[in-house]
Amino acid sequence: MRAVPQRWWLGLRDVIFPPTCVHCRGLVENDNAERTAGGFRHLCRTCAAQVALVAPPHCSSCGHPFFGTLEGERQCVKCDGLAPVFRIGRTTSLFKGPVRSLVIELKYHRGLHVLEDIAEIFRRSPHVLEAVRGARLVPVPLHARKERERGYNQARLIAEQLAKVAGAGTVVAPLLRRVVDTETQTAFDREERHRNLKNAFALIRGATLTPGQHHVLVDDVFTTGSTLNSCAGVLRDAGVANLDVVTLAHG
Ligand SMILES: [Zn+2]
Ligand SMILES: [Zn+2]
Repeated sequence: MRAVPQRWWLGLRDVIFPPTCVHCRGLVENDNAERTAGGFRHLCRTCAAQVALVAPPHCSSCGHPFFGTLEGERQCVKCDGLAPVFRIGRTTSLFKGPVRSLVIELKYHRGLHVLEDIAEIFRRSPHVLEAVRGARLVPVPLHARKERERGYNQARLIAEQLAKVAGAGTVVAPLLRRVVDTETQTAFDREERHRNLKNAFALIRGATLTPGQHHVLVDDVFTTGSTLNSCAGVLRDAGVANLDVVTLAHG
């Protein structure tokens, strides 16, 4: 029942608001914008071809791909120095080019429409879907001040798309809150910021935990991994042992 008006609306929407590529600002060709063809709606064909999807082999902690030969469990240069308290980390793509533009549109330009393309990236990332199926997805929280300012937490919106695409009982469980407003502390030196980040997160009040269940922390971008690791520490302290990490992109 829903499919008919939806297709009809999508066709009309393309006429009223011709889709513009969020990366090059060019027009998105119609055949590429057609949802049923499985294409991206907010990236033109040229930019869509530049989405740098990650496939195995990749680092088991941060998900960054290994190019060339893999020598056992060698330390990855992208997450060197991180002592992960989570089990594995996976990412869909590299944070550059069109993926970077999608994330910027979502985070800084209130571009919630790009979520449909983020869902498309998840559809093309079987190694990520397989890692989250049936799990409780825990979005990395924003500080309440920041979330009020932005109007939403992009990590939660990304987690919702991921849960929808993965299916099989995958749910979003916002169990964490950010208790320290780290952004207002830019004057602190590196070490002090790191110390603050360690205690920046806590469980939400009245959080219902099912420690035996598989939990996956979700964030938009993996940079140093320290934010994700701090969040993982809170869940580990609460008894969650089966804990992984997924990010949309790797910075
Ligand atoms: Zn483009
Ligand atoms: Zn790594």
